[in-house]
Amino acid sequence: MAIYPIRTFGDPVLRAAAAAVTDDVATLERLITDMLETMYEAPGVGLAAPQIGISKRIFVADAGEGPFAMINPEIVETSGSWTFEEGCLSVPGRYWPIKRPAYAKARGFDIEGNPIEYEGEELMGRVLQHEIDHLNGMLLLERLSRRTKREALRELREEALGIAGRS
Ligand SMILES: [Zn+2]
Repeated sequence: MAIYPIRTFGDPVLRAAAAAVTDDVATLERLITDMLETMYEAPGVGLAAPQIGISKRIFVADAGEGPFAMINPEIVETSGSWTFEEGCLSVPGRYWPIKRPAYAKARGFDIEGNPIEYEGEELMGRVLQHEIDHLNGMLLLERLSRRTKREALRELREEALGIAGRS
């Protein structure tokens, strides 16, 4: 087992659309074990492979109902609307109220290639949408209003340059 360093804002792997997963069961088992360990250690409720530098369509999550993993997942249904203070392990320490559908259903595969489905309201629905965004190269910043996003990007760039708090 291994805990991976989590890639943060500015790392190009977070902006890339991840590739479909074609690995064998043993490789996937190992990867999922490591991803869950990394997620719990962080701690977080979800982790997508690009966040540890692996540009493949796989994520792990635990929204309070136990750990699970999805391979090559897609959102197939959403409904309602819910605003939630959303954060991301790749943008540490920041939270923004983000409005998304309250309910989401995702379809994908388990490590043996069997079709699986996860769905839920509120936190579960949110995690499914957030993690699948990661696989499409999208950070939660893309879900902010234009103005909030501009401010957030300025703060994050200043922080990255180490000039925050000096002006
Ligand atoms: Zn995230």
